[in-house]
Amino acid sequence: MSNRLLRRHHDYMTLVHCRDKAWGGHASTRILSILISAISVGVAVPGPWWIACVTAMSIGWGLETAFYRWLSSKIDNPDSLAIADLAWIKERTIWAITGLVVIYALPFLGLAIAPHPGPVLGLIFACGSLLVICGQHVLDRKMVYWTLPVIMIAAILCAYRLADGWVAYLLGFLAFLLGVNTVVLSGASVRSAEELIEAQGQALRLADELDERVVQRTRELEAAAKAAEEANKAKSRFLANMSHELRTPLNAVIGYAEMVGEDVRSGDMGSVASDIDKIRNAARHLLGLINEVLDISKMEANEQVCRPSQFDIRTLAQEALDAIIPQAAAQETNCHIVFAEGLHTQAYNDEGKLRQCLLNLLSNAVKFTSKGTITLACRTIGDRDEFIAFEVADTGVGIDPQDLSRIFMPFYQGDNSLTRTVEGTGLGLAISQRLARLMGGDLTAQSLPGEGSVFTLTIAQTIDASKTEAHAA
Ligand code: ADP
Repeated sequence: MSNRLLRRHHDYMTLVHCRDKAWGGHASTRILSILISAISVGVAVPGPWWIACVTAMSIGWGLETAFYRWLSSKIDNPDSLAIADLAWIKERTIWAITGLVVIYALPFLGLAIAPHPGPVLGLIFACGSLLVICGQHVLDRKMVYWTLPVIMIAAILCAYRLADGWVAYLLGFLAFLLGVNTVVLSGASVRSAEELIEAQGQALRLADELDERVVQRTRELEAAAKAAEEANKAKSRFLANMSHELRTPLNAVIGYAEMVGEDVRSGDMGSVASDIDKIRNAARHLLGLINEVLDISKMEANEQVCRPSQFDIRTLAQEALDAIIPQAAAQETNCHIVFAEGLHTQAYNDEGKLRQCLLNLLSNAVKFTSKGTITLACRTIGDRDEFIAFEVADTGVGIDPQDLSRIFMPFYQGDNSLTRTVEGTGLGLAISQRLARLMGGDLTAQSLPGEGSVFTLTIAQTIDASKTEAHAA
């Protein structure tokens, strides 16, 4: 809850508190007391004094009822009340209550000059009113200074009339002291009302905070549940892919091994050498797959470190591109390499890991591009050219926006995988991104479906010693 809302709550509750105190259960006792006081004046005090008291009581009662209705109509619709409205209502309420006190008290103030027991009745009325002021005139600390004077004057004058000489002064002074006590006590009442309202505000604020935390926690739990579900789906997809990926080369190994066996047994050695080559290729493919899975599990366990060495960026980039040119050519795709002007040719980082990343990106570009163009661009970035960026851009199928945020998750394969003919494991990008970060950089992607993709791999030109093998050891 903001400070403004708290302030509004405070002002509103003060008004409600004041209304409920003044016109709650106590209202009937108060009005009955005024009525009995007026009747007592009629019965006990000679002369027409009672007429003034009864008239004042009737006017006061009528005005009080009208004011109570007005105030309730205002504060029973809290939603429409701004802070300024509440201040305005509060001010009007103080004026109205001051007016009512004056109306009720004036005839009793007049009793000071009435025959006995007029002053006694006036004093009793004034004392009762002081009690009411202590408990009810607590809209703010200054309210009592508006409502008290007329009652205090009535009390002092009536007390003064009860005796002669110095005793009259003494009684007047005691009545004055009653007034002073009323001011102090009403101050204490205001403070306790404020504390109560403050505590309510605090409770509301805490309830709000709790609500917010519950909402936030629920959101986090939902996100975590969704991520866990995603990860689970990705793992299932991975298992299906892996079994397929493993089965194909294993079937090849078994099939060709059987053929080699039959050939050896029959003495026909003509195709043995080429069959053994096929067995070796299938086994290499299997080994590559298993290495990828091992790589990612090592990275998840934070066991990968950099093995830095000095190497030539241009040579490495050219070699990586050369490796995919035959496959790209088979798909009628052109390959280009662009080196930015002023590119540092030397880097001190993990050459093997950088090669692995570039090959991953370039072979993906080939997989998803046919009859298009693949461009590998290299440049330096950073204030002091401290990073090297490799941009692999293709004009292939592109990636759907909803896949783009997930392709770096291990085992995730985008929707475009459904339409492609070459299998994969969904590990290449996850591995490459982790390797890029290990090399002090990052891997990001931009893509438009149907238009192509751009993968930007950055690495530190000189790797930070904390990420190297020596440091890890
Ligand atoms: P794999 O290629 O083995 O499935 P990767 O981690 O290398 O796994 O890629 C994850 C997914 O990202 C791919 O399945 C594919 O949907 C998408 N992707 C990667 N590179 C490209 C690209 N150049 N063009 C289009 N989609 C790509």
